[in-house]
Amino acid sequence: MTSEVVGEVSYVPVDGTEDLNPNTIARLQFEMTRPYIPEINTHAGLADWIFRPQRSLQVVLPVLMDDGSVRTFTGYRVLHSTIRGPGKGGIRFHPNVDLDEVKALAYWMTLKCALVDIPFGGAKGGVQCDPHARSQGELSRITRRFISALGENIGPYTDIPAPDVYTNEQTMAWIYDTYSMMHPGENNLPVVTGKPLDLGGSPGRSAATAQGAVFVTEHFLEIGGIPELGEVSAATIAVQGFGNAGYHAARLFSAAGATIVGVSDSKGGIFDPAGLDVRKVMEHKQATGSVVGYPGAKLLEPKELLEVPCDILVPAALENQITLENAERIAARLIVEAANGPVTPGADRILAERNIHVLPDILANAGGVVVSYYEWVQNLENQRWEEHEVLEKLRHKMRRATEMVVTKRVALVEGHEHFKEEWRKVKRNGDLPTPDLRVAAHVLAVGANVRAALQRGIWP
Ligand code: NAD
Repeated sequence: MTSEVVGEVSYVPVDGTEDLNPNTIARLQFEMTRPYIPEINTHAGLADWIFRPQRSLQVVLPVLMDDGSVRTFTGYRVLHSTIRGPGKGGIRFHPNVDLDEVKALAYWMTLKCALVDIPFGGAKGGVQCDPHARSQGELSRITRRFISALGENIGPYTDIPAPDVYTNEQTMAWIYDTYSMMHPGENNLPVVTGKPLDLGGSPGRSAATAQGAVFVTEHFLEIGGIPELGEVSAATIAVQGFGNAGYHAARLFSAAGATIVGVSDSKGGIFDPAGLDVRKVMEHKQATGSVVGYPGAKLLEPKELLEVPCDILVPAALENQITLENAERIAARLIVEAANGPVTPGADRILAERNIHVLPDILANAGGVVVSYYEWVQNLENQRWEEHEVLEKLRHKMRRATEMVVTKRVALVEGHEHFKEEWRKVKRNGDLPTPDLRVAAHVLAVGANVRAALQRGIWP
């Protein structure tokens, strides 16, 4: 096997520009793990087997609009890997969804499930549409047509969807209902997670992504990750995005004693150094459609929020928010990636030079898929766990994963001279940067997939 994807990739951005294609970024991140995982370099072709998606589907969805017209939408589902178990990953409704974005998100799901040690591979899906311009009836018909078009490509033991940007519990209920109508007489609850509580959802799932991010941050600070910041309650925090991940992150960090100085959504941001009342901001958003206009706070452009003075910045919206363009102006001491892919490789390097740590997405937002896994287990067993049980299990998993990443980074830094030699052997361009927490997390996760792949072997 030879690489059809990338021969020699440059990790160092050339001429102050960087390629923001999420799948190129994912490949760069994969390449960064190579000096640390000898098996990838000694088994020719293994790199492509681990990195390339197992299956990529594109479907065209004719949907009846409220005005009687028909409109076609494009949907994607990428099953990245089933090396460690069935595919698992959210479905996104957004105008910018495309195949490369879905591929990258699916790859990150594979890594995330491995890092927190749940028995899933990775997948992701999306429909290119603007859900804010669509009625509930139209969204229901888009969802149902998408699930029927995917047919047997999803299933409780093969590929299990969940919520992502601009999809929610209602979308998951439609997915469950559609799949169930197509498979009568079976226990179909485990085909999708993030369902409403009344339809087999798990206690704790709606806030799980944010709750996981809070557990990770708390533990990172407890073990001295930022020496001058001992605990969350002493921190000022800004959160980009005020949806599932962002709202609950602001709410839970605030409940843990932190001061939320800024939040934003797609329309703009608000800043108040004295602290925002997160519940009142949510009431304002529910009443007006945005956090913008919240009384008493300074109004910001959407991206300005990223640069406000604070201890911890929580990007919880979309990819490519902190890039070569604005990384120099980030004022926080710690970035907690509640979103997937918000910091680019170029920005990673600038932030590392500025001694700003990044708790990477595959660790920081893994709480969502961990509780999705708990929902799946409950559905398979026809059980309902108590919320405190779910939270205790989640806390344990997130703290353990945090420790593993921090410990791995220390080991990689200590072995830097040796790994530089390995880097030169695989003839990558440029010098090997000092590994950060993202590299450590990816090395752990890719390593787990490499071991499983070699143990399984290839059949037929
Ligand atoms: P959501 O649809 O609930 O919320 C998205 C939020 O982002 C909204 O408040 C929206 O206004 C805001 N937003 C959109 N564009 C923006 C922009 N340009 N600037 C500022 N804000 C903007 O979505 P979500 O589920 O909270 O997902 C957010 C991120 O978290 C995504 O990267 C997603 O992949 C990731 N994530 C979500 C889950 C989950 O369980 N929902 C799990 C893991 C990771």
